[in-house]
Amino acid sequence: MKVYNTLTKKKEEFIPLEEGKVSMYVCGPTVYNLIHIGNARPMIVFDTVRRYLEYRGYEVNYVSNFTDVDDKIIKKSVEEGIPAEEVAKRYIAECKKDMAAMNVKPATTHPLATQEIPGMLDMISTLIAKGYAYAAEDGTVYYRTRNFKGYGKLSGKNIDDLQAGHRDIQVTGELKEDPLDFVLWKPKKEGEPYWESPWCKGRPGWHIECSVMAKKYLGDEIDIHAGGEDLIFPHHENEIAQSEAANGTPFARYWLHNAFLNIDNKKMSKSLGNFFTVRDISEKYDLQVLRFFMLSAHYRSPLNFSADLMDAARNGLERILTAAENLRRLSEASAVAGQTGGDSVNGGAPRPGMTDEEQSLFTQTDAYVEKFEASMEDDFNTADAVAAVFELVKFCNTHASADGSKAYLDALSERLTLLCDVLGIITEQEEEILDAEIEHLIAERQAARKEKNFARADEIRDQLAAMGIILKDTREGVTWKRA
Ligand code: AMP
Ligand code: ZN
Repeated sequence: MKVYNTLTKKKEEFIPLEEGKVSMYVCGPTVYNLIHIGNARPMIVFDTVRRYLEYRGYEVNYVSNFTDVDDKIIKKSVEEGIPAEEVAKRYIAECKKDMAAMNVKPATTHPLATQEIPGMLDMISTLIAKGYAYAAEDGTVYYRTRNFKGYGKLSGKNIDDLQAGHRDIQVTGELKEDPLDFVLWKPKKEGEPYWESPWCKGRPGWHIECSVMAKKYLGDEIDIHAGGEDLIFPHHENEIAQSEAANGTPFARYWLHNAFLNIDNKKMSKSLGNFFTVRDISEKYDLQVLRFFMLSAHYRSPLNFSADLMDAARNGLERILTAAENLRRLSEASAVAGQTGGDSVNGGAPRPGMTDEEQSLFTQTDAYVEKFEASMEDDFNTADAVAAVFELVKFCNTHASADGSKAYLDALSERLTLLCDVLGIITEQEEEILDAEIEHLIAERQAARKEKNFARADEIRDQLAAMGIILKDTREGVTWKRA
């Protein structure tokens, strides 16, 4: 499997640190508003990367944070006259709903920055002890950028060019040794959330959060670190500087970055005001369509959002879902008619119940699976993988009929569903959307219990009970079944 690594600027063979396992960290959103569809792009593409790795048999430890303390969250809390914590909580819950509707699997862990402050204090202390950081007079702690020899290796920036760029923009009042130094810990301002620290009452800088959460949940060295390409510099460059200096090991082996979702060829962003929230889109389209639209392009290519392209995605998705539905209908009819076919022993992998002719037809579909896999093996080329699915759909539409045996029709149906699953496309709508929703609610309940918010945990249990879901707390975790 080849992946394009931003660090080496090449496609490389993917070799995980530990055989059969992949550790993966994806920078998550800052939660001060509903997410827009630009934010949804990394969620969808890296969820698809995860699904493909799982399809290949890897056990994936997938960590994606929520940045729940930040200037924008504080601004919103002041505007609304409620605590910053409440703003963050509200938008985390909304974000999880959007993720479920886009069939993005919940991460193995969704850490919150505000719950990881002790780890941040530890890493900052280590950096100070090793000479990579210093506390200024006012209690701000800065990273001593020039001390990290590899600075610039991810973004390809040269530290002296950066220095030249900074010369004119010395911000008055800052107590940095060098304009390139960045903040690890900053003093609180009046009315802001804060934590005690050896340097001042304050809060963490954004970059240290991800270094610490990746370390805690995945270890000092991880396989994949991912996010949108706007994060390459300075966020990921600074994460590398922090993690490698503190841990003394290389940080992430493969750095994956998605290109932007654009509108009129400009990056969709909150600050430009040219955005649609996922919620806006859900009023017009099933969010499966949004997912399918995102996967119609390679993740490293810019993607322009337009109603025409969304309509094309809707039609394409419809074609796949219709074929899947058709196979199911034919299979049911075949079961009723008792067409079980003959017992074939011909061909590579005979399926009991298929006729020889069906066996040979089914073997032809291996080519589409091979094409699908080859596309995904080539740096997760979902655009070509989708094309392979369309070829399989065309085959099914041509070669499946009411005369087919149940075994043959089911085999085609399973194949189509298997490939769609990797893309996160749900072929059997209602049941599975519900599954994702249930799992999100269970994860939310676990988080509430961890925070000792038992009222919320009970509320979720009741909500699930009303949906006919029975929870069982076991030592291995929570299991669920339908009543
Ligand atoms: P933010 O909340 O701005 O930190 O963004 C969360 C994630 O969304 C990051 O991985 C960003 O790189 C990504 N992102 C934000 N805007 C876009 C966009 N227009 N296209 C693609 N990814 C984006
Ligand atoms: Zn991050």
